[in-house]
Amino acid sequence: MTSETIAAIATPPGRGGIGIVRVSGAHIEPLIAGVAGDVPAPRMAALAHFRDGDGARIDEGLVLYFPAPHSYTGESVVEFQGHGGPAVMRLLLARCVALGARIADPGEFTRRAFLNGKLDLAQAESVADLIDAATSTAARAAARSLAGEFSRDVHALVEALTELRVYTEATLDFPEEDIEFLRDGDVVNRLERLRDDLGRVRANARTGTLLRDGLTVVLVGRPNVGKSSLLNSLAREEAAIVTPIPGTTRDPVERRVEIAGIPLIVVDTAGLRDTADAVERIGIERTWAAVERADVVLLLVDARETSLHAEDRAIVARMPATVPRVIVHNKADLAGIAPHAERNDVWLCARDGAGVDLLERAVLDLVGASGGTEETYLARERHVAALAQAAAHVDAALAHVAGSAPAIELMAEELRGAQQALSSITGEFTADDLLGAIFGRFCIGK
Ligand code: GDP
Repeated sequence: MTSETIAAIATPPGRGGIGIVRVSGAHIEPLIAGVAGDVPAPRMAALAHFRDGDGARIDEGLVLYFPAPHSYTGESVVEFQGHGGPAVMRLLLARCVALGARIADPGEFTRRAFLNGKLDLAQAESVADLIDAATSTAARAAARSLAGEFSRDVHALVEALTELRVYTEATLDFPEEDIEFLRDGDVVNRLERLRDDLGRVRANARTGTLLRDGLTVVLVGRPNVGKSSLLNSLAREEAAIVTPIPGTTRDPVERRVEIAGIPLIVVDTAGLRDTADAVERIGIERTWAAVERADVVLLLVDARETSLHAEDRAIVARMPATVPRVIVHNKADLAGIAPHAERNDVWLCARDGAGVDLLERAVLDLVGASGGTEETYLARERHVAALAQAAAHVDAALAHVAGSAPAIELMAEELRGAQQALSSITGEFTADDLLGAIFGRFCIGK
């Protein structure tokens, strides 16, 4: 562990009532005395004058000292709480640097907290996610991750794996007892339980990534079918211009809406049709680009038509087959059909919003978030990928022992792989470059 002292302005740039410079390091008492005259009692707010190298007053404020190890980073930490103006903060930071600190890298305080065992990696990531949370549901989920709920579930999986591994490795020297080993150890049942538990954590983590990253929902359909009206109903405000003239939507219009706490970015696409108009053609190009990065596609059709229009069929044919989709039969009122849903078909009335709630439910079902978000912890793609990797190893392990010719050594190898994948979530097995990538995206001072 480095003994370099780091310092950063921990409050956002700009003017505010209070601004904080935070310092962390092994031996920071001389620095505190240099800035504030005295070293205050641990964890007690003390009023002090902050002075520069010539003894001139920079500011007056509070000093809070957290001696190691009882601090955020696990090192000794001091906070100088001054007046929140950019000039004052810069002077205060410069004074800390003159006294031997260097300016902290983004996320370096949290990185030190991780390296000193104050947080595991998943918790450290949730610090950044809590700060970045765009919705209150995402913030609550990040707080649950920070409190260690996600890490606890992952640890429980690792423990189950470790037990199996200990048992497996101990019996590897006696290959002739394979069958007994499997029966006595209840290995297949335990592996199956592990697979199911892993599946639950995965589902929860996947919903967690939706809370964090949101979903891109693309509205596709022929001109005048009601895309703009649906977007307005979903956003519950006048977002796109609604007109009865075909081809008026030229740019994909993005609106952020929220369903059950999950942020959706709804992209209203230009009417997908052949056109000679150059501007409209650009809109169409963008539409296809939006469809390609969509998490869900809503294909709007007119409810009065009983089969898909040739143009709609052409649109469907060009979509990536893997993107989940809902067929929205709009203008149900004109067709004399009451709003309802049948699997991935929803009949509704975009103009007055009748049936839009059914569509919202269908979208949540499609992305596997219909279970609600109350117990969800915030997670990242990295975590979901690691869980998927672990699940693949567990499945492979099961395949090695479920047949009539069990291959214990191969199973042991898969269990090892599963454990490594899980450990990468909490940071027990994590390469330095990954740490760099994770903490580099934090804000300075955190
Ligand atoms: P877009 O070109 O696909 O974006 O279609 P718009 O949203 O601009 O709608 C085209 C026209 O259809 C407008 O005059 C809307 O008022 C009308 N419209 C949209 N949804 C409905 C609906 O559910 N019922 C009825 N009767 N008219 C609708």
